[in-house]
Amino acid sequence: MDALLSLPGLGRYGASAVMNFAFGVHIPVVDGNVIHLMNRVFGLGFRGPLDESAWRFMADFGGRNQEKQLYWGIIDMVAALCLRRNPRCTSCPLLRYCKYGRRLVK
Ligand code: SF4
Repeated sequence: MDALLSLPGLGRYGASAVMNFAFGVHIPVVDGNVIHLMNRVFGLGFRGPLDESAWRFMADFGGRNQEKQLYWGIIDMVAALCLRRNPRCTSCPLLRYCKYGRRLVK
């Protein structure tokens, strides 16, 4: 991680993503998609990818399962269903668990 962070232009998100996706090291990855989905599903108020509490949350949430599939799933969820405007909650498999969605769909 330190070596990656020493590279110009690579920040914490990029380095964490490389660790997970390229090297299979299970550490949290936090970007705008992660923040968006976690805030909606769990009713949280993370301010953005620089919010340290979001990194701690994802470390706990993923636990030992910080698998790349988790992050690919989050990216796909936000791209296909959890749109920033007009989320497609009625088609979403997370509706039953999602605080934001349950407020929208009565
Ligand atoms: S239920 Fe709606 S708000 Fe919740 S994750 Fe799914 S699309 Fe997003």
